[in-house]
Amino acid sequence: MSNRIYLDYNATTPMSPEVLDFYKDQLSLYANASSLHEDGRRAKKEIEIARKNVADLVNVLPEEIIFTSGGSESNNTVFNTMINLGKKLGKNLIVTTEIEHPCVLEASKRLADFGMEVVYLPVDEYGLVKEDEYKAALEKNPLLVSVMTANNEIGTVQGIKKLAQLAHEKGALFHTDAVQAAGKIPVDLKDWDVDYATFSGHKIYGPKGVGALFVKTGCKIEPLIRGGHQEKGYRAGTYNAPSIAAYGKAAELAKADIEHYTTHTKALREKLKNGLLEKIPNIKINGHPEKVLPNTLDVSFPGAEGEAILLHLDLLGVDVSTGSACASGSLEPSHVLMATGLGPELAHGSIRFSFGKYNTESDVDYILEKVPPVIDKLRKMSTLSM
Ligand SMILES: *Cc1c(COP(=O)(O)O)cnc(C)c1O
Repeated sequence: MSNRIYLDYNATTPMSPEVLDFYKDQLSLYANASSLHEDGRRAKKEIEIARKNVADLVNVLPEEIIFTSGGSESNNTVFNTMINLGKKLGKNLIVTTEIEHPCVLEASKRLADFGMEVVYLPVDEYGLVKEDEYKAALEKNPLLVSVMTANNEIGTVQGIKKLAQLAHEKGALFHTDAVQAAGKIPVDLKDWDVDYATFSGHKIYGPKGVGALFVKTGCKIEPLIRGGHQEKGYRAGTYNAPSIAAYGKAAELAKADIEHYTTHTKALREKLKNGLLEKIPNIKINGHPEKVLPNTLDVSFPGAEGEAILLHLDLLGVDVSTGSACASGSLEPSHVLMATGLGPELAHGSIRFSFGKYNTESDVDYILEKVPPVIDKLRKMSTLSM
């Protein structure tokens, strides 16, 4: 490991040492998990243990979990299912929000090619779905409602149980992208009563390229990838058994660790938030003040560009993210921050600090020492160039 300070856990996490050791062992098991011989059965057994662990983390039945290549595939599978299901049920409306992950936004956009209509709900200044707009959209008889549990940029956590209940009252199916929530806050899908939910391995200290889709018993799902009979025909392709097994191990550890995780990351977040507010004038904390992931702190520094801050911190050995995505050479401000009503200046000047279980208080001390002079310098430069 490098001695850099990693504050980008919402982008991805390292495998924890326990998961990595387990994964290395699993990598030497080469048998096809669909083969009927002993070696095949052994690989399949590991997959079923993983299925139980992933299901336990979010309180569902193991048979309601389908393994996929990750969050993006799980989300695409749900949206793809809606094309034929919509035709069958004579419904063609999908309701989602403006702040979803790009894979939800793109997968839903594609449904327009199949004659479906998609409504992107606005959010309030904290990133919460507005209840009146939500209820108005439900009146239009949607087939599916998709609202993410927790936002990857600003960390805002929606009231999924209530949203799912309102959707069901109007006969709509309900999906949630819970990639950022699992392992960070309690996720009880049985209590929330959602129909579909999306998860990913590499956001919870598991390997990349593996994830899960929860499909409630009785709900329709159509395979996105067709072929063999793996996952009861809902997801073809030779099992990536080592990654699935390691994902299961990560889920097991995440469940056991969740209280400690919450206390630990929340304390670091509070320390950084209070320190920045104390040391740097005129900054804005984005996201909801309470309904927020314990590990996520998104901050706008007006008068300083996010990319410039990121590069300065990079040179100082700190990994963070900006909300902006560099699309075709032009810097687009974060669609999430813009949706919360931030102007382009605040949206461009934002940094996401996302903590994980390996951060320490001294990481925060280092940031609090280094960030204020960087902001001061960048603000002076931007007034000079005006
Ligand atoms: C990371 C992420 C995804 C994508 O998951 P992958 O496994 O990387 O495909 C989807 N949704 C959210 C909210 C995410 O943070």
